[in-house]
Amino acid sequence: MAYVPLRYYLHEGNVTRVARRATGKKPLTHVWDPESASWVGGYSLSPQELSMWGEALSEEDVIERLSTKALRDESDQRIGRIRALVEEREADAALLSSLPDVRWACGFTGSSGLLLVHAGGEADFLTDGRYREQAAREVSNAEVHVTRRDLVEYMDSQYLLRKGERVLFQSDDVTIARLEEWQDQLERVEWVAAKGLVRELVAMKDEYEISKMRAAQRLTEDVFKSISSLVWRGLTERELAAEIVHQHLREGAERMAFEPIVAGGPNGALPHACSTGRRLQQGDLVVVDMGGVVDGYASDMTRTVAVGEPGEEARVVYDVVRRAQEAALEAARPGMASDALDAVAREVIEEAGYGNEFPHSLGHGLGLRTHEWPSVSYRREYELPAQSVVTIEPGVYLPNRLGVRIEDTVVLREEGVENLTQAPKDLVVC
Ligand code: ZN
Ligand code: ZN
Repeated sequence: MAYVPLRYYLHEGNVTRVARRATGKKPLTHVWDPESASWVGGYSLSPQELSMWGEALSEEDVIERLSTKALRDESDQRIGRIRALVEEREADAALLSSLPDVRWACGFTGSSGLLLVHAGGEADFLTDGRYREQAAREVSNAEVHVTRRDLVEYMDSQYLLRKGERVLFQSDDVTIARLEEWQDQLERVEWVAAKGLVRELVAMKDEYEISKMRAAQRLTEDVFKSISSLVWRGLTERELAAEIVHQHLREGAERMAFEPIVAGGPNGALPHACSTGRRLQQGDLVVVDMGGVVDGYASDMTRTVAVGEPGEEARVVYDVVRRAQEAALEAARPGMASDALDAVAREVIEEAGYGNEFPHSLGHGLGLRTHEWPSVSYRREYELPAQSVVTIEPGVYLPNRLGVRIEDTVVLREEGVENLTQAPKDLVVC
């Protein structure tokens, strides 16, 4: 293999873990580094490896990525955690069909695949011919099967499951029609509905995942900074939304996490407004909700800005929403009940007399999906797990007049809440 002459060094403490985890190789050399007074290992990267890491990476980027990955990337343990669930439920296997969960468990990023985890701990990943190379490159901790046949039919033909085995399936992902097909194709097993099978595991992010979410958030904030100056130029909502998409992609997002919302004046009163052809005008409050995806992980942020002086009522509402949001940020901690956190913000808004104008939940989980478990909602009582990443996004919407929403994304760490969002919250008047 022809190696490119990129060579980088890492400090001894990290060397073995970093090398094995990130490149699957041992260090090529060990040299004494007088500056750090320690032995350091050196590696070379092949062109293929370089392209996997991204072409434009500087040496520092590579080191940072590898170090972050080595610090606490727990992806190797995920199959083991699913196995523990299988045992807990006295089943013989779990079949993951929801693609973000499949990605989380074994690394596959394509659009067709199933992951079968057995009670013994082995795992089989199945996909079709389009993904032969991609699966070989991406999937770890599972045996890869590529077939032209229907995936469950193939499982049957290869005896990947035995007669009478109990197989957990993701009943919140599989349609009734698909289940009926599976039951026909693989008659000898017992299909057992398991709603939210891996949702808690997926919710608890490791440091590697959090670093990706932080990167996605930084990117979105950079975009926000540069579009703030455009708001006053008389663009339409849709033009501004297009600019948000354009800048995200240009700055390195692989895609948008969702279609951005730009909603000015009375349109701001629709919490999930579509951007329209309406031109932003003097006196508008503009709700801007946007997020991009970096290495699979989403960002999600809302800021409300004003085009010129928005008036007394707008300022009052803005202040209420901001106080509600800050109270929730202050109160948030792991182990808290979802509805209790929602209530902290809701009370501030109710006291100000806008209780009926806050018609949605306070927030939602974020990760490989833009909306994932746990929801932060008055309708949910479950405990918010440590290391979960959730949004805090109260809003007040006055029909035909205006809307205000402010949204941050936080990590609920045992040692305290980390707010990934750093964009300021003073009302910006453009
Ligand atoms: Zn949002
Ligand atoms: Zn959100």
